[in-house]
Amino acid sequence: MSDPDAKSETVLALPSNMTPSPVTSKGHPCSSLSVTYVSRRKLVEVVDGLLGVMTLSSTCKKPCVHSGSDEIAADNAWLAKCPSALSSFDQIIASMEGKKIALFLDYDGTLSPIVNDPEKAFMSPEMRSAVKNVAKFCPTAIVSGRSRDKVFEFVKLKELYYAGSHGMDILVPYSGSQSITNDDKEAKLFQPAREFLPMISEVNNSLVEATRSIKGANVENNKFCVSVHYRNVDKKDWKLVADIVDNVLNAFPRLKLTTGRKVLEVRPVIDWDKGKAVEFLLRSLRLDDPEIVLPIYIGDDRTDEDAFKVLRQRNCGYGILVSQVPKETEAIYSLRTPSEVMEFLNSLVRWKEQSP
Ligand SMILES: [Mg+2]
Repeated sequence: MSDPDAKSETVLALPSNMTPSPVTSKGHPCSSLSVTYVSRRKLVEVVDGLLGVMTLSSTCKKPCVHSGSDEIAADNAWLAKCPSALSSFDQIIASMEGKKIALFLDYDGTLSPIVNDPEKAFMSPEMRSAVKNVAKFCPTAIVSGRSRDKVFEFVKLKELYYAGSHGMDILVPYSGSQSITNDDKEAKLFQPAREFLPMISEVNNSLVEATRSIKGANVENNKFCVSVHYRNVDKKDWKLVADIVDNVLNAFPRLKLTTGRKVLEVRPVIDWDKGKAVEFLLRSLRLDDPEIVLPIYIGDDRTDEDAFKVLRQRNCGYGILVSQVPKETEAIYSLRTPSEVMEFLNSLVRWKEQSP
């Protein structure tokens, strides 16, 4: 997919029933969104808690249990609360009867393994083939924290929809048609944080400069957000990373900090997340009738919880958390690894091919 920025400057407005606040100024599409500010106190509280979050995410690579029997008990309790989507596959397809599936997939940790170098988070040819096949019979969107261009470079499938930067950069067909091509002149961008682009570029440069001396720190510009990866930073320097990010953010009161898997993310303070992106895509693609469409969202990270929550609140479809460890989640089902995600997608394809 070529860069749609080059072919269209059009930015979609929110569907009328999704406008969270009145238009405030100058008619810019972003001005119809609720923009709130994070106070310094709140930001400091976030950073104070950061080391705890950073430490927590480093200590749970495997189920946090101490013995074989404890491990089995914890696993059973987890699966009772959030059953495997593979073991529950018959139940899932029973609820799909007569409905179309709308599939939403996170990328890192869902379609690709988490790796030390985020530039090398490649998906396997087998996974690409599984996604390609499932997209033949259900509309499929990638919803990632990466920039839209970067996640497309990894996935390389033109038949999908892409929502980058945690849903702050979405390309959709103009008239709600359910097809889009590389040359689609009618395709439109939805970029609710467009006005933040210069600020994001500035904070990215500041973070690159400020973290230059920290071995292993990696700052990634994801267009509408900036990720500071600390996976490869010595644990003794994590506080330094947190302090540096906090110091840089002091100069940017309209940006906020969120956390992911060994990553600190700097984002605009607008009220927009992966959950709102899913709602937007369902409406834009005319897939928001729960009598006809069953949405499935698969993701592994904290930011995916917003999407799980939306599906739970709409009481339609399923959130599926990818995790090897028990977690607090709004998802209904779980899968352990990207390999299990692939197995689930292939199961959907087989089921569809065998359906009359
Ligand atoms: Mg992920």
